[in-house]
Amino acid sequence: MDKKWKVLALWVLPIAIVVLISWQILGSASNTRVNQATTSSVSRNAPISKISYGRFLDYVKAGRVTSVDIYEGGRNAVIEAVDPEFDNRVQRLRVDLPGLAPELISSLKDESISFDIHPPKKAPAGIGILGNLLFPLILIGGLILLSRRSNSMPGGPGQAMQFGKTKARFAMEAETGVKFDDVAGVNEAKQDLEEVVTFLKQPERFTSVGAQIPRGVLLVGPPGTGKTLLAKAIAGEAGVPFFSLSGSEFVEMFVGVGASRVRDLFKRAKENSPCLIFIDEIDAVGRQRGAGIGGGNDEREQTLNQLLTEMDGFEGNSGIIIIAATNRPDVLDSALMRPGRFDRQVTVDAPDISGRLSILKVHSRNKKLEEDLTLESIARRTPGFTGADLANLLNEAAILTARRRKNYIGLSEIDDAVDRIIAGMEGQPLVDGRSKRLIAYHEVGHALIGTLVKDHDPVQKVTVIPRGQAKGLTWFSPDDDQMLISRAQLKARIMGALGGRAAEDIVFGREEVTTGAGGDVQQVASMARQMVTKFGMSSLGPVSLEGDSQEVFVGRSLMNTSDISDEISKQIDEQVRKIVKQCYEETLELVSKNRSAMDKLVEILIEKETIDGDEFCNVLSKFTSIPEKDRFIPVLQDPT
Ligand code: ADP
Ligand code: MG
Ligand code: ZN
Repeated sequence: MDKKWKVLALWVLPIAIVVLISWQILGSASNTRVNQATTSSVSRNAPISKISYGRFLDYVKAGRVTSVDIYEGGRNAVIEAVDPEFDNRVQRLRVDLPGLAPELISSLKDESISFDIHPPKKAPAGIGILGNLLFPLILIGGLILLSRRSNSMPGGPGQAMQFGKTKARFAMEAETGVKFDDVAGVNEAKQDLEEVVTFLKQPERFTSVGAQIPRGVLLVGPPGTGKTLLAKAIAGEAGVPFFSLSGSEFVEMFVGVGASRVRDLFKRAKENSPCLIFIDEIDAVGRQRGAGIGGGNDEREQTLNQLLTEMDGFEGNSGIIIIAATNRPDVLDSALMRPGRFDRQVTVDAPDISGRLSILKVHSRNKKLEEDLTLESIARRTPGFTGADLANLLNEAAILTARRRKNYIGLSEIDDAVDRIIAGMEGQPLVDGRSKRLIAYHEVGHALIGTLVKDHDPVQKVTVIPRGQAKGLTWFSPDDDQMLISRAQLKARIMGALGGRAAEDIVFGREEVTTGAGGDVQQVASMARQMVTKFGMSSLGPVSLEGDSQEVFVGRSLMNTSDISDEISKQIDEQVRKIVKQCYEETLELVSKNRSAMDKLVEILIEKETIDGDEFCNVLSKFTSIPEKDRFIPVLQDPT
């Protein structure tokens, strides 16, 4: 680079800035001088008090204003007004104006108030020219400086502009205000974490006997189960600051930014120790290294390495505990789990029924429920709901209650809110016609199979009122204990999903089946494939034939598939087709055997738009016998 330019950048720029600053000082000084000059004519040195624009207009109307001096192109004004309460003493007041409105001018004219508009102060000519020159100069100087730095410092382009430094993207809460009492239904996790509170509060208890305090705890669990809440509760119980950062915020476009964020975070944390660092979605940075293709990984690896370095770097007993959260522990780099890093894992699972009950207790504290609506009944209705879902459910129900102008949340609001959370907003009912009949047959087909196949979850209700994306819906009530699913249950689910299409097929004919079953067919395919490849439930035997189908690294899964030969994948396809074909045949048979029951049920459904499970069984039992279902009815221990 040309030496002349460097000189320019190094010298002209600072000088230019000094000139700019002094010009500003000069400018503001002259502004105040204007005000003072006008002030002095009435009450020398008395500070001018300020009034609102509204008050000013009132004064104008009341005829109290005698003169108005408008400054800065109409942004403020100094007025003189008489005060009738102090025998018309003249006051000087300052008003901020919303601009030079013509209405204002005309009302001043109407009231014949003398006014003056002072043009904005012009800077002296020389300074004006310099001012005009400054902007390009600063730009050029800035560019030169930048290119100089990145040329002479090959240490890393990340340092070129100090991106990471300037954007501190972590949040700090001095006091989270969350206590363990606010987190419910995850008692085991809470017990594990209570120890962490003691680590933070009384480290001496452990260090005095030579124990090494763990540095990192990994919270593992699906979204919405309260991991963030738990981390906050630990900080809240221990009374220490809470630093938090999300893994996805580490990873940026620019290589090196994430690493510098990690460095900043730990630096700030050390200054504030004892404290807690919470890293959400750690899988965004902590995935196994060397996996995948593409440039993003360099950045991620650098960030992860920096994180590991920082965790190793601080002394064991520095009073900082790092809590990380993820729902994909399987993808984490094993280096993260080594002793001295996240060597403790705490699982935070979706709550069971008594867990749900205690979460509902926490979130219904400020809600008004109808007397006959028990939290137990809500807990029974919501298998699979996480803490976040339950909080959302009570809130939606409260909103519905308010919209219906009721004072207390009732069962119908809870039911509607559950439906809305699971399946989306309710739409307008269809008018009776061919489409509605077809949808009714489709849904009754699902419900019929669901009821007649022993291993299927029982029907909760069938409806032809659209909701979310669906034109009609059949609701099943899942068992509360769905830890293990048998082959018979999977088969039953496949048949249930095929029930809709089978009904269309039998009633309207093969040529008339519709796209409405698209989702069902997809579900069927994925269930059948998993039976073959993942659960070893086909005649290929108990072998796992595919990696995790949710594999996230492109690179890895490309490599993985190569260990399944063409021959095997042909066999897999064959097996999948065999399962689906067999299920469909059985489904068709069941549906056609119960054609007259189906016609009757469709008639009722079209008239009522929704049939609940009991009524469905009642009607159906007049035509055929219904198998008894094994149900697991959980006993509810009151957690309090
Ligand atoms: P995660 O971090 O596991 O995704 P969050 O902690 O962010 O879940 O939970 C979101 C919200 O859901 C919380 O703020 C809280 O209102 C509610 N919630 C989730 N789990 C629980 C729980 N176990 N007890 C009470 N409330 C919960
Ligand atoms: Mg979270
Ligand atoms: Zn369907």
